[in-house]
Amino acid sequence: MRRAHRIRQVVNYANLSTPLGLLIALIGGARLRRGERGLVYAYGYRVPFPVAGAFTVGNVVMTRHAEGYLAGRLLDHESRHATQYAACVGLPMLVLYVSASALSLAVCGHPASWNVFERLAGLEDGGYPRLTPRWRRSSARAGQEKEWNPSAVSGIFPPVRGSWNAEGRGSCRRRSALRARRRH
Ligand SMILES: [Zn+2]
Repeated sequence: MRRAHRIRQVVNYANLSTPLGLLIALIGGARLRRGERGLVYAYGYRVPFPVAGAFTVGNVVMTRHAEGYLAGRLLDHESRHATQYAACVGLPMLVLYVSASALSLAVCGHPASWNVFERLAGLEDGGYPRLTPRWRRSSARAGQEKEWNPSAVSGIFPPVRGSWNAEGRGSCRRRSALRARRRH
């Protein structure tokens, strides 16, 4: 394990975010596995909230999917969230994340697209759309609305159902890739 990952592991245990993550995984009936980079993978999380492909608390990455789901760019994304917990001294991250989600909702109608934590973790890696702010959308683009797929995302909160204006096409490819991976 790299030295930085080892430090993150120790810091997130000490600031109680990883113990909280383990408790949430336990309550959710997840199976724990020792992961890469000092992370703990929690597969088969059964509590219906949050409705997300994966989410991270401390160094614990939870998913309702089976073993093998946490890999590649999605794992990179969730690993960055674990680093954010360390940077936010643990549990304050939850309050800051909720605030950032509310701000993003106000800006574009989606809790992740303008959420600073999701942007720093990589929107496309997390399967989130890159949306234009409400005030920059023109009525001419209203016909380009696309349907959001809530099953292929990660994060603490579920995406908002409904339609939105896509700013880029990368997220569409990302969702296709995620769907393809789930079939294997
Ligand atoms: Zn995320």
